[in-house]
Amino acid sequence: MSEVMNVAAIFGEDVFNDTVMQERLPKKVYKDLKKMIEEGKELDLATADVIAHEMKEWAIEKGATHYTHWFQPLTGVTAEKHDSFISAPMPNGKVLMSFSGKELIKGEPDASSFPSGGLRATFEARGYTAWDCTSPAFVRHDAAGATLCIPTAFCSYTGEALDQKTPLLRSMQAINEQSLRLLRLFGNTTAKKVTPSVGPEQEYFLVDAEKFMQRKDLIYTGRTLFGAMPPKGQELDDHYFGTIRQRIAGFMKEVNEELWKVGVTAKTQHNEVAPAQHELAPIYAECNVAVDHNHLVMQTLKRVACKHGMKCLLHEKPFAGVNGSGKHNNWSITTDDGKNLLDPGKTPHENVQFLLVLTCILKAVDEHAALLRESAADPGNDHRLGANEAPPAIISIFLGEQLEDVIEQLIDTGEATHSLKGGVLETGVSTLPDVAKDATDRNRTSPFAFTGNKFEFRMVGSRDSIASPNVVLNTIVAEAFAEACDVLENAEDFDKAVHDLIKKYATEHHRIVFNGDGYADAWVEEAERRGLPNIKSMVESISALTTDKTIKLFERFHVFTEAELRSRAEIKYENYAKVINIEAKTMIDMASKQIIPAIMKYTKTLADTVIAVKEAGADASVQAEALAEVSGLLKEAKEALKALEDITEKACAMEEGKEQAEFYKFDVFPAMEALRAPVDKLEMIVDKEAWPMPSYGDLMFEV
Ligand code: ADP
Ligand code: MG
Repeated sequence: MSEVMNVAAIFGEDVFNDTVMQERLPKKVYKDLKKMIEEGKELDLATADVIAHEMKEWAIEKGATHYTHWFQPLTGVTAEKHDSFISAPMPNGKVLMSFSGKELIKGEPDASSFPSGGLRATFEARGYTAWDCTSPAFVRHDAAGATLCIPTAFCSYTGEALDQKTPLLRSMQAINEQSLRLLRLFGNTTAKKVTPSVGPEQEYFLVDAEKFMQRKDLIYTGRTLFGAMPPKGQELDDHYFGTIRQRIAGFMKEVNEELWKVGVTAKTQHNEVAPAQHELAPIYAECNVAVDHNHLVMQTLKRVACKHGMKCLLHEKPFAGVNGSGKHNNWSITTDDGKNLLDPGKTPHENVQFLLVLTCILKAVDEHAALLRESAADPGNDHRLGANEAPPAIISIFLGEQLEDVIEQLIDTGEATHSLKGGVLETGVSTLPDVAKDATDRNRTSPFAFTGNKFEFRMVGSRDSIASPNVVLNTIVAEAFAEACDVLENAEDFDKAVHDLIKKYATEHHRIVFNGDGYADAWVEEAERRGLPNIKSMVESISALTTDKTIKLFERFHVFTEAELRSRAEIKYENYAKVINIEAKTMIDMASKQIIPAIMKYTKTLADTVIAVKEAGADASVQAEALAEVSGLLKEAKEALKALEDITEKACAMEEGKEQAEFYKFDVFPAMEALRAPVDKLEMIVDKEAWPMPSYGDLMFEV
């Protein structure tokens, strides 16, 4: 028997959470800290010293020797620089373990090597990390021992955001302020704070580590750059929700345990659509904690996979032709007294506040569709959005039958008089209970779906931080609320004004609502008729960051300055170019050093066979045909390789920026595809023994 895990006991045991703070901190200090967390009040250094001291003592009891400011630069992953707690040796040659308030609050990593998009000239390389007290510190155990991790924001000397967290916190302030304005209009005088709640569902692949190590494409780029489809893919749908194999189950158990210890509410786990694909979802949390936790989830998946002899692939499209991985960003807005602004209640048509919130969101998403699309753009996601897999690159909103009906009533008559009911689902089997049915069925193809009391933004890439999409969601909805409040606060007849506004928004932005099949070609045409943007790639989406509309939006709510937006656009162009450059070079390397030599050897074997068979006096036409076919494809591959080498060299020589990124997208990328095509054909016909790396089948079905 394996030992029993006491989940309730281990949950959060490595987190400096409220319980620990209450136990350890002097009452006054605890109160000041809570004020800072809840109301954003300043903390004086003396108080910070006390907190730091207690935090250190607690961490040392957990075995920590080091601390780190844990931050999220614009590299897409988290960064950390470890400092041990030791002080300078005393006269007796011993050291103390120390940690000051100053060290807790502020760090100064030499940050010149992080992307800043020109915001921070290298001669002024100062970057500061600042403690985000709204996301709890935790102790992480790994091969380095135990480390106290302090979630921090990362800014330049002049206060510009160099990270994901700073704008996220700013956007949370914006939606807080505007939601409170809106709530007051509806007579809510008690709510003090409104926060976005976020629950991200994380998809990932697991492959055997030994096989992974035999593929340079997986090692360098996280995805396969060559690879023919195995005879069996996902067509039988037998993997989705299938029984979890023992090796995977053991992995999941350890992932859960590690996550629970650091306070991540790992909740749901299951096999996904593709072979070797899985999903993990936590219970939703406050937006910025959810973002931090999602980073922890991704890191934990990777670390634990290694311990189990596997590799976790977080790339959006590790295998061409097979379902890719995304992240569903579930988002709602909640007051500090526990009310969800997106809860329609049983009779949504009577819930005026809800209808205003809903139509504001329709307006926000319609007006900023391109920006929302951009927030999910990363090089890997180009293989999903608008490519051969859904969700499509077109932003639309799924409302479901019940709400769509209410909206239509509003548009038609200006009045919504009834709501469609859910009813009972009759199973027709007397021993099964009749289950209460939701008023609305699910839709799996919409990029932005209303799912009962939250919106689910399904475009986000599996590897990407969920910070950007939440920054955008928070800010565009804050803007819509602000504009509604601007009208309603001055209205003489509130009831009439709110009624008119809801109707106006519903009518003007109805085009963004689409309840049909988002994967169908007909939708692409329909969306075009409606004038909805269809932005197919990352490179084409980046300009949405710097339009007048976007700059105005973010400046109004102090989320980004124009300079910050321009720097982010620049970083994105550079990032795209770099990623494709690495992929192209990896292809060149694999093709010239592994694949082409292997095929040459193989053609020699074939040629020897042809001669031997002929000499033996038999018919060698089959062997000769095989040789001709392989040699033909080999020639094609060799030419495509040369073309890719030339064009990559040209791309490398270009100046960094938009034009270079476009060149990688529209010139280098097709050259990569052109090399891949003959190589994949060769893989199908060349003797398996002769192929220099594990196949798709080996990787996906033999984990
Ligand atoms: P699905 O119907 O998509 O399978 P689940 O109920 O399993 O949805 O939830 C998916 C994710 O959405 C989970 O992380 C869950 O905690 C989160 N979630 C549920 N309710 C809310 C909410 N009100 N706001 C934000 N996220 C939520
Ligand atoms: Mg979901």
